[in-house]
Amino acid sequence: MSVVHLDTIVAQATPPGRSGIGIVRLSGPESLSILRQLVAKPSFDPQPNLLTLHSLFYPLTAEVLDQAMVCYFKAPHSFTGEDVVEMHCHGSPVLLRAVVDATLMLGARMADAGEFSLRAVANGRMNLTEAEAIRDLIEAQTDAGLTQATRQLKGAVSNTLQPLKDDLLKVIVQLESSLEFVEDDLPAVERKEICASLKAIGSECDRLAATFSRGRLLRDGLRVTFVGRPNVGKSSIFNRLVGHDRAIVTNIPGTTRDTITEAIGLNGVPVQLTDTAGVRKATDQIESIGVDRTKREAADSDLVVLVIDGSEELRDEDHIAIKDAAPSSYLIALNKSDLPTFSITRSASLRTNGNSSSVVSVSAKTGDGIDALRAAIINPYVSGASAGDGLLISNARHHDLLVRAGDAVKQSLDSLTEKASEEIVLIGLHNALRYLGEITGETTSDEILGQIFSTFCIGK
Ligand code: GDP
Repeated sequence: MSVVHLDTIVAQATPPGRSGIGIVRLSGPESLSILRQLVAKPSFDPQPNLLTLHSLFYPLTAEVLDQAMVCYFKAPHSFTGEDVVEMHCHGSPVLLRAVVDATLMLGARMADAGEFSLRAVANGRMNLTEAEAIRDLIEAQTDAGLTQATRQLKGAVSNTLQPLKDDLLKVIVQLESSLEFVEDDLPAVERKEICASLKAIGSECDRLAATFSRGRLLRDGLRVTFVGRPNVGKSSIFNRLVGHDRAIVTNIPGTTRDTITEAIGLNGVPVQLTDTAGVRKATDQIESIGVDRTKREAADSDLVVLVIDGSEELRDEDHIAIKDAAPSSYLIALNKSDLPTFSITRSASLRTNGNSSSVVSVSAKTGDGIDALRAAIINPYVSGASAGDGLLISNARHHDLLVRAGDAVKQSLDSLTEKASEEIVLIGLHNALRYLGEITGETTSDEILGQIFSTFCIGK
């Protein structure tokens, strides 16, 4: 996909706003000549990769713009693979704008979003997943998200996919040569061998695709909603987890009439906690809106924490709440463990309702069990993810293509078992190879590449 770019692009590489230093970056064949004009030294011949201090001059008036550290990266040894110039100026937005304007006047053009990275991919300096990893790295919100992006940047996705692509190609070559040279059907031994390879390739695609649910959470965070009938202690537990009195706590049922959301961090993962009005028969219109909102929040969240008052017998409203929570992934917080009437055995009758779920005894009043509740919320999502070194797919595009590749391989496997012709089997395998190639960018169309890079920031 090597593309020769004739134009030279420019953009501010540091974020807008005031800062100690602001960097303007050029990439393309005219980069050095533009720099020579800016420093007003026509024969300036900088040593590559070395920062040196220069005055920059405005082209029209020859006024001094700034004193800047400038660096020249000679093609192909640069981020984009082209001649690149970086000017480390003082971080004034007005000054940086003037430096960019000066380069435009000297023949550069403003870079599109992600165009530096696009050129890096086009010139073979990195593959598509590595370029996407840079974007994820810049946008990472959590330590775990950062770890995944770094792994991807080091080529984890392409390295994991390469053996799959090699195996797939081996099967394709085998089938294609049998098409050309063998008059009869594929020998049984060879067929068996191919089936085993395809099974292994299909399940590896599935295994990788299945890591997406955890990978996505590490990147985007977890949404948790508290539900339960009024007065069981939802707001009290919410306040405990948030670390201050955010929600109003009273013994008057129906006090929390709207949803309240706060963000906390658990094991490096951002967690958005939402306290709700709870589920009960509303006594007025405002409360009724609150109850509707509760149901919506619960449906949209990754995890529901169903709070039950463990010091009382279960009421009808508790059973309704359990039934409502059942379709979601949920866990039960059995609250008020400090009260003498508290009984953990109540959880036995809870387990028989709905999906399987874990039960944690807590006391929002004393703080007992709150650590266990934190662990119960986050552990299923991070266990093995933060410490382990397995690759987690965190990009929806990669996930989608892996699912498609896995399906195509399985279809081919079915055709092969049904003794369909090699041509039919090959169609699915070629598709699978193309999907895997699209992940790393080898078989990605220019239009899709354009779409992907438009999600990058300008200057990247
Ligand atoms: P919500 O309506 O479910 O949000 O419940 P609240 O958090 O407003 O609490 C209702 C009542 O139960 C308040 O009077 C709280 O002080 C009390 N409460 C909440 N948690 C506990 C607990 O762990 N132990 C005891 N003894 N009382 C609690």
